Amino acid sequence: MLIAANWKMNLGKSEIDQFSKILQSNEFHDSLDICIFPPSVYINYLNTRIENLPISIGAQNCYHEFSGAFTGEVSPTSLKDIGCKYVLVGHSERRVNNNENNLYVQKCTSAAIKANLIPIVCVGETLKDRVSGTALDFIENQLIESIPSSFENIFVAYEPIWSIGTGKIPSSSEIKEMHKHIKQVISSKFNNSIKVIYGGSVNPSNVSDILNVNEVDGVLIGGASLNPKDFLAIYHSTVKHLD
Ligand code: PEP
Repeated sequence: MLIAANWKMNLGKSEIDQFSKILQSNEFHDSLDICIFPPSVYINYLNTRIENLPISIGAQNCYHEFSGAFTGEVSPTSLKDIGCKYVLVGHSERRVNNNENNLYVQKCTSAAIKANLIPIVCVGETLKDRVSGTALDFIENQLIESIPSSFENIFVAYEPIWSIGTGKIPSSSEIKEMHKHIKQVISSKFNNSIKVIYGGSVNPSNVSDILNVNEVDGVLIGGASLNPKDFLAIYHSTVKHLD
């Protein structure tokens, strides 16, 4: 089970200090993998404050080359070098704001794998696709085009775009149907298996219902991960699911 906290472009040094203090007073359960994705410039800073805890650090994106004349880009090997374990790839905000298409996402995913990072490939349909009944096909195409043909250890984050930051979440049966579909596509088209986490308006009140869906292997939390109390409440609900 993975709990991933995407801080996006939020929190600075003093908030990270406060957040880390609260994390330091919590007891963590070994069989849960937790990863925080701070803004890239604070990866190292956060790492120095929580390196004694069983919490991994990840990056919110990476480039598809390791080095060279790529001003402003972040190399997957540099991320590995500073202690990252995971990297988010193809988050819908980057797909929209930075024009990252499926082919670009696939190249970044391959580079992350080569750098020994674990990519979390984000996919998600628009409300239009959900309403018109084409969500399953849309996601299938995103997976086929965004995931490299061969891989050992990657995650998919199913994040319906209409659910991110809106407080709206799909029903348990919709989440089940989509996670099952993603696993089937990976099995039939890639002859492989994959863990699928859910993202989109996860909070302390809905996380339990989401985790009750068998096909859900964890959660990707945005807004609620910025508040240490909410983040730890989600963490403790997830621990209860392990029992
Ligand atoms: C996200 O953007 O990855 C996300 C899950 O955001 P939120 O939880 O705020 O919907």
